[in-house]
Amino acid sequence: MTATQSASTYDDINPATGEVIAQVPESTHDDLDRAVRAARTAFDGGKWSQMAASRRAKIVNKMAQLIAERANDLMLMEVRDNGKAISTAKGEMGAIVDCFEFYAGAATKNYGETMPPPLPTYLANTVREPVGVVGAIIPWNFPLLLASWKVAPALAAGCTVVLKPAPSTPLTALELGKIALEAGVPEGVLNVVTGSGRDLGQWLVEHPLVDKIAFTGSTATGKLVAKTAAETIKRVTLELGGKSPSIVFDDANLDAAVAAAIYGIYYNAGQACEARSRVLVQKSIYDRFVASFVERARNVRVGDPEDPQTQVGAITLPEQFEKIRSYCEIGASEGARVLLGGERAKLDGRNAGGMFWSVTAYEAAPDARIAREEIFGPVVTFVPFADEAEAIALANASEYGLSASVWSENIGRANRVARALRSGTVAINTPYAVFPGVPFGGYKQSGYGRELGMETMKLYSETKSVLTFIGEKPMNPFGV
Ligand code: NAD
Repeated sequence: MTATQSASTYDDINPATGEVIAQVPESTHDDLDRAVRAARTAFDGGKWSQMAASRRAKIVNKMAQLIAERANDLMLMEVRDNGKAISTAKGEMGAIVDCFEFYAGAATKNYGETMPPPLPTYLANTVREPVGVVGAIIPWNFPLLLASWKVAPALAAGCTVVLKPAPSTPLTALELGKIALEAGVPEGVLNVVTGSGRDLGQWLVEHPLVDKIAFTGSTATGKLVAKTAAETIKRVTLELGGKSPSIVFDDANLDAAVAAAIYGIYYNAGQACEARSRVLVQKSIYDRFVASFVERARNVRVGDPEDPQTQVGAITLPEQFEKIRSYCEIGASEGARVLLGGERAKLDGRNAGGMFWSVTAYEAAPDARIAREEIFGPVVTFVPFADEAEAIALANASEYGLSASVWSENIGRANRVARALRSGTVAINTPYAVFPGVPFGGYKQSGYGRELGMETMKLYSETKSVLTFIGEKPMNPFGV
């Protein structure tokens, strides 16, 4: 890592207390340019990009070990930076270690292919080469986790990286840069740039020496990124927004489905791209399901993120807090029925100045804005449906297609519905569906490309075709 040359810094605030917890370097255009050039020089120098894959694998694996050793410190840093409950951050640390370990294994399996000879005198094969300099742009909701989803496969494939965390949650990305160096990643291979404005991301996408942009964020910014990247024909992967449905049929295990529906929306205070923010319930069980959800959701513990008993922490950004408040007002003006919450959660003591929102549930018409638009907070809408066909139609009536859940004990029906859903992930009868090794990404305006899978290695590689003539008599196409 090269240190920023700019002397200016900005305040990093703990959203659960309002305290300033760090001064973060305010990178300039020059700093960004130096980071990209460092990544370019490192890539072209070949020390990392041409290193034996088995050696790269060991270094990526060492990063996993160092993260595991420092999990407690990283977890607390994430909690103070983002406001999430420490119980949530703890789970993330395990997933981050798993992600680095998975891609350490993948480094030696980024195979090319041998084709049937196109002519008898030919040998034809492909090799996978690292795509080059990767600009990795990260949102604030899972800072280190989403950085690891990009940095681990990029490094494993032999790329060099400029990592740009969200302005409000930069701390763990900076730690990741240090961990990489300690693990043996050469200087210039992983570079981290921080700054408070939107320009930094834009400059990274514009930079002619960057080969690929791996972006996670909102669909609106994703569209800008795709347009800007087109100017220099960069490779782009986009992990964007969602309005993911849970579909609950009347033959579901209701106890498990209610528990999963509560976790599915309130986990990480609903600030999750794959949050199950629409719950579609079959009419015959609708009242029973909603009553049970409301009764059990009242027990969800919203509180001090540093208390291990807390399940829902703070809202990370003031603008996000305002967005949630405004959607609750929109819900009321659209005639949605409040089933639970709908207001600020007031905490006392050190959290009195923090931004907390109560766990909230509405019954809304399927075309109400709160049932269609991504709120990115602890707000769920319930919509009843009559039969399988209506459930599928309602679930697919969205510009997004990131994740979905199906709850039914009829495995034929559950799989039929899974097949009909236009969604990158479908979870059947489980609240957990995101694991290293299982591709994650969106249909429709939830983005393109997949993270976490083996196929992700392809997205950090170029395919080179190599054709070798093996005949005895040289070819002479012009007969000259
Ligand atoms: P955002 O789009 O505002 O910002 C994301 C990142 O892009 C930040 O680092 C930001 O600084 C940067 N950025 C802003 N303007 C830019 C520009 N013009 N060019 C390049 N970069 C720019 O998103 P956010 O508010 O930080 O995150 C919330 C969104 O992220 C939600 O919509 C959520 O659904 C989505 N998300 C998606 C996934 C997924 O895997 N699909 C995961 C988490 C979050």
